Amino acid sequence: MTLTVNDLRVEFDGFVAIDGVSLTLEPGRLHFLIGPNGAGKTTLVDALTGLAKGSGEARYRTRDLLALASHRITRLGVGRTFQTATVFEELSVLQNLDIAAGVHRARWRLMLPRRGTPEQVAEVLETVGLTDLAEKPAGVLSHGQKQWLEIGMLLVQDSSVMLLDEPVAGMSAEEREETGELLRRISPERTVVVIEHDMDFVRRFADVVTVLHAGKVIAEGTAAEIREDAEVQRVYLGE
Ligand code: ADP
Repeated sequence: MTLTVNDLRVEFDGFVAIDGVSLTLEPGRLHFLIGPNGAGKTTLVDALTGLAKGSGEARYRTRDLLALASHRITRLGVGRTFQTATVFEELSVLQNLDIAAGVHRARWRLMLPRRGTPEQVAEVLETVGLTDLAEKPAGVLSHGQKQWLEIGMLLVQDSSVMLLDEPVAGMSAEEREETGELLRRISPERTVVVIEHDMDFVRRFADVVTVLHAGKVIAEGTAAEIREDAEVQRVYLGE
């Protein structure tokens, strides 16, 4: 389902971090959010997930996300990851997924669970490439594997919107490649939005790119279109 952001504004003590952003985030396209440090990328995701207070509107499934608390937004199917993975280090990979599945079961407690079953958890382990590590404590995973586990946790929750904050930062070249492939696999059925700095990665995997600068959207299009945009070259690429 489409998430529509209208004239979003976020202020911190008078400092305008998001300054009238409107965006249409559609399922089936891998959407990247880029922009220099301080552009407002994380704040935008924070506002959509109840972690920063914003004005304007963020319509999803007839609701305005800006009016909902974080846990309600999660239950509505809007999930996110953080730059530093937030997994339970002492628990196994499988237990982490089970906990996430519990969130999902709570969401659908009055209906037959379609997701979050042992079979579905096994399928998610396969999808994120962690089947062989299922019994290992999450703490022993590499940085990249923890990011995949977090994405897996969103998958077992059946998140239909996934907002991923720099998932490939700090990954090896091989892990980045695998993450790109993973994002491609999961994006056809969901709305996937990825904050990213590495333009090579964006060029390879993005269907749509939105460029933020000083809290405003300054360009939107394919990676090739963005590359040709004069303002983007000026403020972001420094060309
Ligand atoms: P990006 O993710 O694009 O690097 P951020 O969203 O982290 O940018 O930050 C946007 C701007 O908002 C920055 O100038 C940052 O210093 C400011 N900012 C972010 N969070 C807070 C906060 N909790 N309090 C005050 N200022 C903040």
